[in-house]
Amino acid sequence: MAPGPNSLMWFRKGLRIHDNPALEHAAKGCGCLYPVFVIDPHYMKPDPVTFSPGSTRAGLNRIRFLLESLVDLDANLKKLGSRLLVLKGEPSEWDIKRLCFEYETEPYYQALDCKVKNYASLAGIEVFSPVSHTLFNPADIIQKNGGRPPLSYQSFLKLAGKPSWASFPLVTKLNPLSAIGHVGNCEISEVPTVQELGYEDTREDELTVFRGGESEALRRLRDSIKGKEWVANFEKPKGDPSAFLKPATTVLSPYLKFGCLSSRYFYQCIQDVQKNVERHTSPPVSLLGQLLWRDFFYTVGFGTPNFEQMRGNRICKQVPWNDDDDELLAAWRDARTGFPWIDAIMVQLRKWGWTHHLARHSVACFLTRGDLFVHWEKGRDVFERLLIDHDWAINNGNWLWLSCSSFFYQYNRIYSPISFGKKYDPDGEYIRHFLPVLKDMPKEYIYEPWTAPLSIQTKAKCIVGKDYPKPVVSHDSASKECKRKLAEAYELNKKLNGVVSNEDLQGLR
Ligand code: FAD
Repeated sequence: MAPGPNSLMWFRKGLRIHDNPALEHAAKGCGCLYPVFVIDPHYMKPDPVTFSPGSTRAGLNRIRFLLESLVDLDANLKKLGSRLLVLKGEPSEWDIKRLCFEYETEPYYQALDCKVKNYASLAGIEVFSPVSHTLFNPADIIQKNGGRPPLSYQSFLKLAGKPSWASFPLVTKLNPLSAIGHVGNCEISEVPTVQELGYEDTREDELTVFRGGESEALRRLRDSIKGKEWVANFEKPKGDPSAFLKPATTVLSPYLKFGCLSSRYFYQCIQDVQKNVERHTSPPVSLLGQLLWRDFFYTVGFGTPNFEQMRGNRICKQVPWNDDDDELLAAWRDARTGFPWIDAIMVQLRKWGWTHHLARHSVACFLTRGDLFVHWEKGRDVFERLLIDHDWAINNGNWLWLSCSSFFYQYNRIYSPISFGKKYDPDGEYIRHFLPVLKDMPKEYIYEPWTAPLSIQTKAKCIVGKDYPKPVVSHDSASKECKRKLAEAYELNKKLNGVVSNEDLQGLR
């Protein structure tokens, strides 16, 4: 039989060989198969928030995680008789007739893919771009809802129904892959190191404890679901945000972000567990429900123009946030607020690139509507750089939520930076771990060290104002002021039906 067309499998996310419909299609009956990853400078462009010289949009932890995932993908492709081609240059001599890549909803990829598809069509190249990063196709849900994304989880569930893999069934097993053809003059490299990408490596103990890659994702998944009772009883937001030695949730988010783990396969594994237990929790709180939250934010993000900003975003309340208070923003970002619970979370975020969901709630609320009244877009940028699981739709969606700008409007419910963490961790073990300067502070004062008598501070070798900062605000008065400003902003949004101008907001400042 004559060999089929040469195929190019373009990996972007979807860094896996399990349940990868684009890879399966690329491999089917092809002549040569070129599995390619292009290092895209877009994700390494300078960050608008100044962190340090040479800072970038994606922090070291996430880039390292990505490179580890690529090394693992290369190893998995080698087991199938192929390899990953990390590209710099023009693969124009490859005579590609079929181009396969996973469908993406982020605005950056939407624009890129439009150009790529136009080019492919002119060059007579078949394009196959299946939806496999999410459980559902966001476009289908938006269409079912008359062209607008559903804005509540419950309405999303109603429209979504149960995912059926009828159009693209889960890919169970791949046969050995076709050989790679001539690469011509194209420069093929191994997966680069972080230093080769211009990042300064840091001490190992300053870096994330989570390793990238499909193999690690599947190991973590097996570990998470082997506790059938744990899966059956999973209930969020219950769970201890301060548990760091054994986190209370799966920590599969970075693997889902890069597609080292298929969300569809994850969903199926949870369903299998649920079938075999008498009782289990349900969405929105169950583990399955968490995956549906992910799809919910993907759908809203895909169908909402200017989703990533306040201006021009029709689902976002217009609020006169402080967007020029760089001092407060820097104190929050650099773990110098003087509230140990908040600062410990920010240290964990910087070092590990991951924190528990309720820890994210605490710091996002504190920065925005809880205490500092800093614009949520500024906090979103910091998360974007530091999180290894940073995901455009989910990060923006949750910042909109936590700042009471969209989805959730009970601005009177504020997380206390003092008593919230204490509920879970009265001895302050989490704080002692991530803020060793406070390790000898007696537990009575660990959440409010500024209230400790000087003799106690001296004994604990931590003088507040010298070794550890004083609180940047008084929580009681700052939170009252935040509520007052939000009440005013909500009134104005109601009066002007959400069409609030810059001048209107100035009036509230
Ligand atoms: P589990 O509880 O084990 O849940 C399993 C999976 O469900 C997660 O891996 C994730 O893919 C999905 N999921 C869980 N909670 C949510 C949620 N609230 N919204 C959407 N999907 C969810 N998550 C990201 O993946 N990327 C982000 O950039 C991100 N930014 C956030 C910013 C803020 C301000 C907040 C409050 C939350 C953010 N989250 C983000 C959501 C959530 O905190 C993480 O998904 C979760 O903590 C990851 O841990 P896990 O994998 O152990 O979650």
